[in-house]
Amino acid sequence: MTPIPPDRDGAAPRGGRWTLLGAALGAWAAALPALGLVAGPNPWFMDAPQLFLLLLGAPAAALGALLGSRFRRRSPRVARPLLAFGLGLPFLLAAWPQPAPSGRVKLFVYGIDGATWEVIDGLKGELPALEGLQARGGRAVLRSMEPLFSPLLWTTLASGKAPGEHGIHGFAVQSTDCKVPRFWDIAHSQGLDVGTWKWLVTWPPSRIGAFQIPAWLAPEPDTWPADYSFVKEIELSRRMMRKEVASRRPLLVLAMDGLTHGLRMSTLAEAAEVALLQRLHPDRNRDFYRGQLLRVQMDRDVAIAALHAHPADIFTFTDYATDAIPHRFWRFHEPARFPDTDPALVERWGEAVHDSYRQADAVLADLIAAVGPQARVVVLSDHGHQALEGEALGHLLAPRTERLAARLREAVGPVDVSRLGHKLVVALNGSDPAAQRAGAIALIEALRVERTGEAIFRVEEGPAAAGTLGLAVRNEGLSPASIETDRVAGEPLSAYLTEGEAFSGDHHDRGIWLSAGPGLAQGALPELHILDVTPILLAMVGLPQGADMSGAPPAALWEGPPPELGPAPASYDPVLGERDFAVLPEAVDAVNEEQLRALGYWQ
Ligand SMILES: [Zn+2]
Repeated sequence: MTPIPPDRDGAAPRGGRWTLLGAALGAWAAALPALGLVAGPNPWFMDAPQLFLLLLGAPAAALGALLGSRFRRRSPRVARPLLAFGLGLPFLLAAWPQPAPSGRVKLFVYGIDGATWEVIDGLKGELPALEGLQARGGRAVLRSMEPLFSPLLWTTLASGKAPGEHGIHGFAVQSTDCKVPRFWDIAHSQGLDVGTWKWLVTWPPSRIGAFQIPAWLAPEPDTWPADYSFVKEIELSRRMMRKEVASRRPLLVLAMDGLTHGLRMSTLAEAAEVALLQRLHPDRNRDFYRGQLLRVQMDRDVAIAALHAHPADIFTFTDYATDAIPHRFWRFHEPARFPDTDPALVERWGEAVHDSYRQADAVLADLIAAVGPQARVVVLSDHGHQALEGEALGHLLAPRTERLAARLREAVGPVDVSRLGHKLVVALNGSDPAAQRAGAIALIEALRVERTGEAIFRVEEGPAAAGTLGLAVRNEGLSPASIETDRVAGEPLSAYLTEGEAFSGDHHDRGIWLSAGPGLAQGALPELHILDVTPILLAMVGLPQGADMSGAPPAALWEGPPPELGPAPASYDPVLGERDFAVLPEAVDAVNEEQLRALGYWQ
């Protein structure tokens, strides 16, 4: 038998070179689109070359090798360098120069919904971006106001007006319902370009210079510019949740849109893993936790690309995972407060709350790098967070809204009832809220369990905003069995309460404030109030506040004397007429609880 002569370089047997050539071509077939992406619309894409090789490069090379091995002829010598280059390309692309900081941003506002100093201070050494801002900027408690309801609070933060004036109370709210201009309306009317990424109550979006991407209450996927709607379509498609509802465009098409708008390789791989796990082995806690973090990661990717594509003088970004995760995982974060908590779950989820802060910090670092050192940076939260306290603890009864809303409407006219954990907020939308309030309280006090004579709701004490009424579930004498057997004023208790997984985290009224950058003071600042925020943000971009705003920037905010801002206009309200909505859909279904649960905000 004639021995097979070795190849000229002695490395590959007969046909081996065709195998090699096939592998090289396969590697290139996988790497070329990445090259096109990174050199073209998305220089951030190749952030995880090892993932790329694992998922695409190596499998494509193996497939090419398999096909190539079927040819038994000699091949050109170029195969090996070609293969090495094809497989090495992702690493070269990872070093591809990324766009320099945008350099134009004067003010960057980073919202961390529900952020609390107690959690941040408990993570010393682990939150470098927040610690860096504390070292070079000012820090304060940002005092919030009842009712501690995010859509209302973010609107107060953005307008410098209390809810009675801005008119945003419940969850069924749109930007067209806001009766006062917000700081982006004001700044844009003064010639500044603004980009807001997921500030609450910005649907329908308006043209404010750079971009406006609505937050999680938006019932429709509209964004401005319209080519960012894939971000909202992915959210609204509910594909991240178990319940599958057809979105307008297939997920693959949405992902392709994402790839040309800044979505990174690591985010794409994470999304694939989350979706796969959810399908193969669903787990409520894990799916919720990973879905929340994934959404923020996706937002970070696309917001940075948007900032480069649409330069802005003012840029805002809001993270909501720091509220959604603590609502659900606080019992594992502070298990001593919840003695009935399963130790195995504490072991597994004890860091979930911290993780949401670690992510918020990492995203903050990325965004600070993207805006550049000339920008003033403000970090704030709409309220703080703590363990759920008092009578709701340990019980599994949560309020339902439908029947209560119907009875209230019958009794006192137009109201909206929104639920947050064990609490309800009733928005009194009639022409005489004071009379509505009295009538509503009378009705609520009459809702008593027949067996015990106890009322099922307690009217929240404290300074309620005009036009709203806060309610909490009273659990005295009730148990999950009560849902089946007890009756309330002739109706089954189940019309008003349901057996739900209790929230274990609850809002408190001490949010956070950090400000750093050119001309801003360093060190502890006096306590600020959420009504001070709009005047401060306007001052930071050189605009006077409206004389009708009750808050004001404290002198301590500035390193030197406060800036000269020119005369204060009596009111910026006329700016409201200049708003330029990108869409004004005729008939819109208000967001309902079902949708919010599907979006992962409620349990
Ligand atoms: Zn919350």
